[in-house]
Amino acid sequence: MSIASNIERLRNEVADACARANRRAEDVALMAVSKMHPAEAILEAHAAGQRLFGENRVQEAQAKSAQIAQLEGLDLHLIGPLQNNKTAKAAEIFHAIDAVDSLKTAERLNSAAQALGKTLPLLIEVKLSHEETKHGLAPEELPAFLDGLQPFSFLKPQGLMTVPPWSDDPETARPYFQHLRRLRDENVAQHPNLTQLSMGMSHDFRVAIEEGSTTVRIGTAIFGKRSYV
Ligand SMILES: *Cc1c(COP(=O)(O)O)cnc(C)c1O
Repeated sequence: MSIASNIERLRNEVADACARANRRAEDVALMAVSKMHPAEAILEAHAAGQRLFGENRVQEAQAKSAQIAQLEGLDLHLIGPLQNNKTAKAAEIFHAIDAVDSLKTAERLNSAAQALGKTLPLLIEVKLSHEETKHGLAPEELPAFLDGLQPFSFLKPQGLMTVPPWSDDPETARPYFQHLRRLRDENVAQHPNLTQLSMGMSHDFRVAIEEGSTTVRIGTAIFGKRSYV
């Protein structure tokens, strides 16, 4: 299957999942996660009309940047953890940062965005499981974190993001998706721009859409299996 035909299939599957959930297809964005795939794969997806992309490492995105930076309408998001020494580079090459979980990092991103004369949309990553390897804030830290972001006028917090524990069975992810939505709903009155929920990947995006996802992050189903070398 080509990348273009995979994208077309995914668009249809997202639309079907929306219809079943009584939601409008335009309320769920399809993000193409291109990590571990070459810049050529991004070019191919872009030629098929894809504009929203996710990369999970600054360095890897930087390496692809020369080939993709000029693509018309490119909307490139960082969806992986951000180290403090990479904030300036991240603010430069990404259009949004979707996995912020530290005020220190936010402060540095804010300064970098100011220096670049841009405002950076961001999502806050929440960790809803107890896995050591996962990043993200504990849910009880969220209200104070949101207040802590207020002074950073070059950042635009727009919502929440989560990665549930891996499982073959997409139903296992449902309570995590429900929890993220509940957190958004509890905080949106105080923070009216907190509307987005980035949740759902190749194997569980249908469940995520049923639970209110506004962005599904799809890697494997668009670009094929990743080879980790
Ligand atoms: C890799 C990755 C994805 C995509 O996963 P697939 O299972 O390949 O669709 C989504 N979100 C994050 C944060 C990722 O790192």
